Amino acid sequence: MQRALFTGILLCLGVMANLSSSGCRTSVEKDKSKLTTTNNNQSADAHDAGAIHRRAIIVDMHADTTQRLVDENIDLQQRLKDGHLDAVRAKEGGLDAQFFSIWVEPDLFGGGGARAMKRADIQIEAVRNLAAKHSDTWEVATTAADIRRSSAEGKMAALMGLEGGYAIDEKLENVERYYRLGVRYMSPAWSVSTSWAGSSGDETGKTRGLNDFGKQVIREMNRLGMMVDVSHLSDKAFWAIVNTSTKPVIATHSGCRAITNVPRNLTDEMIVALAKTGGVVNVIFYPEHIEPGYSEKKKKVDAEIASLVQRASAAEPGGVAQKKLARDRVRAEEYLKRLPPVSVSRIVDHIDHVVKLVGIDHVGIGSDFDGVQVVPADLKSVADLPNLTNELLKRGYSEADIDKILGGNMLRVMDEVMK
Ligand SMILES: [Zn+2]
Repeated sequence: MQRALFTGILLCLGVMANLSSSGCRTSVEKDKSKLTTTNNNQSADAHDAGAIHRRAIIVDMHADTTQRLVDENIDLQQRLKDGHLDAVRAKEGGLDAQFFSIWVEPDLFGGGGARAMKRADIQIEAVRNLAAKHSDTWEVATTAADIRRSSAEGKMAALMGLEGGYAIDEKLENVERYYRLGVRYMSPAWSVSTSWAGSSGDETGKTRGLNDFGKQVIREMNRLGMMVDVSHLSDKAFWAIVNTSTKPVIATHSGCRAITNVPRNLTDEMIVALAKTGGVVNVIFYPEHIEPGYSEKKKKVDAEIASLVQRASAAEPGGVAQKKLARDRVRAEEYLKRLPPVSVSRIVDHIDHVVKLVGIDHVGIGSDFDGVQVVPADLKSVADLPNLTNELLKRGYSEADIDKILGGNMLRVMDEVMK
């Protein structure tokens, strides 16, 4: 999930007016009989993105499709005309595991309290229902072993991460509550600071790290085997977390500030520190966070379309979530028209940067699909994931390295955090 910084209007429920289909999809049928091929072997299909996607276990650390399940009642089994993710396109892209974001928008559902918890619980239920209803396609997973098994069975693993710690309602026991409900990572704050952790998205975060309760939360997550996610956190909170956590720390959907200087991204020093914990930076696909100068351009467009967006909101008769959907629909259409296209190669620039800084073992992918109103032109949906792999191949990455980037590194971290 991302946030418009220029107004109090929030950008998150993900709807894309992304009606054009990609002409460069590679359809990937999983064939896990190839699983016996070791990563280091260059198979006959070497340097073929489709073959890599058949063999590799691909883990996307962050998508906000969950809110579409709840607020739009979408049928994820169908090829959807909008948005970025459904089961059909996920299969085409060779996806094996999706972390579904359990996102509680603090301004709409409270920065804590019963409404925040209810909003989280509804989303958790939606993910569980998806897997229960379509058990041939999805399987709820909580461990790397689950992911490996469901992938071998030709299914996709559905996992959950809590985006923003609002739903724990400032109670330590609620960390375990969500762990028991299947949540396997949590970012202490989204774009609004919690009382116990600073966000990169507000003024409060500039001076707020983690308080004593926040440190207790991190220790509790370590104890339970819930991964700590630093995406969206303030710099101070980031440093407090890496200095508190005894387990690998991850960023589920972030970029590199050295390339794209926005507060949501990580500095080189942060990336080095995160890697030292054994963790992984999962590179986001969102143009605002990967393309230099894009954020400034987007702010200008946001100002230009502000009244258009508000009109759409006022005309929507539904509740707050529906109004937000109406606003985001307009944004998506206007961004497509007014902002320059961004290429998948820019994502790989960020991957390259992390690799050059800390090596191949600390980078992964976190799309933020359905949480943003614009995506790279050649990565319009999960079906286009092989385009990312093609770019990695072009830049000389070996198949073994690509396996690590696409999911292997995160499987390692999950094994480490959850043992
Ligand atoms: Zn986010």
